[in-house]
Amino acid sequence: MLIVMKPSATAREVDAVVAVIETIGFRAHPMPGATRTAIGITGNQGPIDGRRFENLTGVAEVIRVTKPYKLITLDLRPEKTVVQIDGASIGGSELAIIAGPCAIENREQAFAVAEAVQQSGARFFRGGVWKPRTSPYAFQGLGEKGWEIMAEIRDAFGLKIVTEALELPHVDLIERYGDVIQIGARNMQNFSLLRRAGRSKLPVLLKRGMAATLEEWLLAAEYIMAEGNYNVILCERGVRTFAQHTRNTLDLASVPAIRRISHLPVIVDPSHGTGSAYMVTPLARAGVAVGADGLMIEVHNRPELALSDGAQALRPSEYAQLIAEVRAIREATVPLANNSDQQFQVDALAHR
Ligand code: PEP
Ligand code: MN
Repeated sequence: MLIVMKPSATAREVDAVVAVIETIGFRAHPMPGATRTAIGITGNQGPIDGRRFENLTGVAEVIRVTKPYKLITLDLRPEKTVVQIDGASIGGSELAIIAGPCAIENREQAFAVAEAVQQSGARFFRGGVWKPRTSPYAFQGLGEKGWEIMAEIRDAFGLKIVTEALELPHVDLIERYGDVIQIGARNMQNFSLLRRAGRSKLPVLLKRGMAATLEEWLLAAEYIMAEGNYNVILCERGVRTFAQHTRNTLDLASVPAIRRISHLPVIVDPSHGTGSAYMVTPLARAGVAVGADGLMIEVHNRPELALSDGAQALRPSEYAQLIAEVRAIREATVPLANNSDQQFQVDALAHR
């Protein structure tokens, strides 16, 4: 259930509706928007009788939600969410770039890549401190030692640190030393991890599971938001198909599909989405062209020596060229603001 307040509703009127929701044992999620506040209700397993809210002062409309998700929807928040991270943002007018090595391997490697990332004007440095590897014998990341390097990079370059949490205690460390919690494809349905990230004050970058439908992915985002963390960034990184020419099939149609349903920012990862360095730039261009709010790109100073994902890593010079190109594409692309704009365009075309 969703309660839409009148544009003229006061903060006290919103608080009064929230109090009723909490008194009957549910959780209220007030979402202030440009023209009005809407309040999502979670915690109910069956339908709630919405009529009890109809006559409260300031209430414009009570909407029964028939979709499986509530908080991620444009019904709740018609404007796009812009995630603000201490001066940097994802989802706004600026194209967000999150770049760095697959894994933090040593100080020299991490610093060389961080320098290239900073020079490109990117605001976010990625790098796995813990790595989810298919083989138990593959490099698993430096662990806590990697944090010393990350902390130095954050200080030296002023970049925001994005790293993946594989387990619940990792979230505590990211809260202490990092800026964005990444939840990887393999953990997209790790519900206790999603809930823990949902109780964090840090934004969460949620990758699409490699076999996840759009609905499953959005419900994973809903898990985080239902705990009160509304700063979720979705990341398309490809799904497994019968294709053998790529590591995953990068589903770029998910970007406009999500735009039609959700206010959350969505970025594209052409590195994991293709698995091959020569495909990263073409698919990065395409990702920006379809309206992604940003890109996640793997970069390595010496890809031939990388301890993980070397085949898909760009060299700093290739990466710099990619950034110049995607910025130009972004300039030339009219951002699709939201559902109603797209619908308007579709209608206009149909009536030509
Ligand atoms: C990563 O970003 O390094 C990673 C492991 O990605 P994914 O979860 O998409 O496989
Ligand atoms: Mn990787």
